[in-house]
Amino acid sequence: MRSLSILGSTGSIGCNTLNVVRLHPDKFNIFALSSYTNTDLLLDQAIEFRPSVIVTKDEISAKKIYELIKNTYIPEILYGISGYRAIASADEATDIVAAISGSAGLIPTMDAITHGKRILLANKEAMVMAGPLMIDLCSKFNAKLIPVDSEHNAIFQIIHTNSDNNAINKIILTASGGPFRDFSKDQLLNVTVEEALNHPNWVMGKKITIDSATMMNKGLEVIEAAYLFDIPIAKIDVLIHPQSIIHSFVEFHDGSLISQLGYPDMRIPISYALGFPDRIKSGIEGIRLEEAKDLTFERPDNNLFPCLDLAYQAFSLGMASTIILNAVNEVAVEAFLKKIIPFTEIPNLIDSALQSWAPRNPSSIEDILDIDSEIRTKAMSLISKS
Ligand code: NDP
Ligand code: MG
Repeated sequence: MRSLSILGSTGSIGCNTLNVVRLHPDKFNIFALSSYTNTDLLLDQAIEFRPSVIVTKDEISAKKIYELIKNTYIPEILYGISGYRAIASADEATDIVAAISGSAGLIPTMDAITHGKRILLANKEAMVMAGPLMIDLCSKFNAKLIPVDSEHNAIFQIIHTNSDNNAINKIILTASGGPFRDFSKDQLLNVTVEEALNHPNWVMGKKITIDSATMMNKGLEVIEAAYLFDIPIAKIDVLIHPQSIIHSFVEFHDGSLISQLGYPDMRIPISYALGFPDRIKSGIEGIRLEEAKDLTFERPDNNLFPCLDLAYQAFSLGMASTIILNAVNEVAVEAFLKKIIPFTEIPNLIDSALQSWAPRNPSSIEDILDIDSEIRTKAMSLISKS
């Protein structure tokens, strides 16, 4: 029986993880669950799954949840960063689902690594900020990263048994293209938050949905793939595949092109990560190819969606630049969601930050956090002046 701590259980990945766990009461025990603002959902999840520990944002929400749950059962209730860190490193948990969104997930994910856990990694921003450090620490502490992101999970399904990376010609990440794939530059100027949140294929949290609309999601994924699979970034390509049925390809040097197909539902990659190395039921049926009809591919338009190129650039410039890319993107997406800046200002801010700010390259997690916080302050002041 595997014992799970779910960081971010109230989010889209967290809920889908619980949807799969619900199908396998014989295989998984929920040791801990965590929310940030959604105390009501955490309460419902706790009553259903009876975790030993639950974590919420602050003392006020911890007290609120205690009052609401005490007549049902009494879990340990923690709050704040020390709480997330505790459930990521607890001896009782074998597997940690890293599903907090954004840079807030980095520290607990690092704790899971330094405690030798099996980590089901959804939180791509942690990888973008600290990939080389995370990979080094995984071998030092015997931790295992299993990608949940659908493209990386697809690649992992193809190459985890093949240790010869030299046989790989390239990796092709597929991208839906988001809701504005066919827009003109002028049309992009006036898109609304509601339009950007209306993703054609995937139901996801707000931040990643905006990242998908700008194509920054694919940029972050290119960096994530380079670190996770130890592949030079020049061998990582992106193709728009609007149907989101094929979830990436690996091309080998013998001319074989291998891919994984499935309906666009995160329960498929989540179940693969949960069950690995076994396959367990996800609750989703296989694709009826006769109904899938056309599966089409096209090159991304880097002129219309500059974020993808910015991610390649940042990676080539080094770790400090990928931290800048991620931090400015998070601040800019937040500002767009609050209707402070237009959609097209997101890449502009990132571009100017990458060109003008040049912090030293980090050598520790403390350096990474320092750079991240310095860049966020600068980005916020840039936005407030504009
Ligand atoms: P959601 O916004 O749906 O969920 C985020 C989760 O993190 C929620 O449980 C939220 O709590 C919690 N959270 C947010 N901020 C903090 C914080 N500061 N401290 C602690 N917890 C926090 O996001 P998703 O589930 O969509 O995405 C999660 C991660 O997975 C992201 O990194 C994303 O890029 C990645 N991912 C997601 C995919 C998807 O299909 N959704 C696909 C591939 C990757 P609360 O809701 O209670 O406030
Ligand atoms: Mg993805």
